[in-house]
Amino acid sequence: MGIIFDGTGLFKSDEKHCEHCLRIEYTNERTGETKQYMHHVLEAKLLVGDMVLSIGSEFIENESEDVTNQDCELKAYYRLAERIKQTCPKLASLLFRAATKWKIIAFK
Ligand SMILES: [Zn+2]
Repeated sequence: MGIIFDGTGLFKSDEKHCEHCLRIEYTNERTGETKQYMHHVLEAKLLVGDMVLSIGSEFIENESEDVTNQDCELKAYYRLAERIKQTCPKLASLLFRAATKWKIIAFK
């Protein structure tokens, strides 16, 4: 039994979707666009034998469009881990104690 955290992209666009979009700046040689906007989510999965069960999701998104430090997987991990601990304290205690080394390696 274990717990897996992994982020994934939901969509990206050259046009801003909302004030919570994550953004990267680059130069697209074909279109000349310099910014790209996206939404990501961090998923927590419980691994039990051959089964993988979703136990939580946390959107990775900015509080507003003028933030200087954008949201990221690590910040989302702390929010999601805290929510799992609040919802299932006994299960979380077992899983997070066993996963401490993995967590540190995964986010370096
Ligand atoms: Zn958006």
